[in-house]
Amino acid sequence: MRGSSHLAIGLITGAGIAAVVPDLKLSLPGIALAGFSSLAPDLDHPGSRLSKRLGFAQNFVRWAFAGAAVLLALYAHFNLPAGPNKRVALTAALSMFLIGMAMQNQSARKLALLFTGVGAVLGGLYWEMLWLSLLGAFVATAPFTTHRSWTHTIWAAALWTYIGYLANKDLGWHGVAAYAGAGYMSHLLADTLTKSGIRYFLPLSDKAIKLPLISTGSATGNMLEVAICVGYGLVVALLLWQRFGTTLLPI
Ligand SMILES: [Zn+2]
Repeated sequence: MRGSSHLAIGLITGAGIAAVVPDLKLSLPGIALAGFSSLAPDLDHPGSRLSKRLGFAQNFVRWAFAGAAVLLALYAHFNLPAGPNKRVALTAALSMFLIGMAMQNQSARKLALLFTGVGAVLGGLYWEMLWLSLLGAFVATAPFTTHRSWTHTIWAAALWTYIGYLANKDLGWHGVAAYAGAGYMSHLLADTLTKSGIRYFLPLSDKAIKLPLISTGSATGNMLEVAICVGYGLVVALLLWQRFGTTLLPI
């Protein structure tokens, strides 16, 4: 499945989880977090599909992401009072930096993610934030694993959700675990629809679980991905309507 479809499914899942989990607030940062989490399993991908698609603009876009991340971090550090807003802004800056670093190919990408990850591990130790260290360890090691192996298991999804749970406690931002976990799982479920499927229970079982509807890259495969996103989006829109009704309308 293409990265753009994963992102779309992750964002829709973010909105959907707010519709079905009783005390969860529908929030834009939450939906963005679910989208970010839906891309995380493919940190094990040797080349970034996103970068291939962007072509010549790649360098510019990568540095724009990294630059904006640094600016946001500086702004938050110097101008925002300590509190939830500052922590959310710093976390957003870190995510943007990660996305920028992931937008490369082959060895440069591995190295950039390794250094970013190690930086986050050290930052987490320094500020005594275990979630940041665990996130850093995930980001640093994932690129060195075989594609669709460790990051595509229920253990990785559980670890990602646990990181969200710890971040939830540290940041005081309710719902991080739900948004992060749902976004991550949406990636695995979406990959289940492809020919190679997912080996959810590695190393306990080598069996790939799949419902092979989509052949990635083919014209029909691409159309099917779009159709799935649209259908899924409609279902979630309906759920949101049921939960929030007219209170969602901007009038
Ligand atoms: Zn994948």
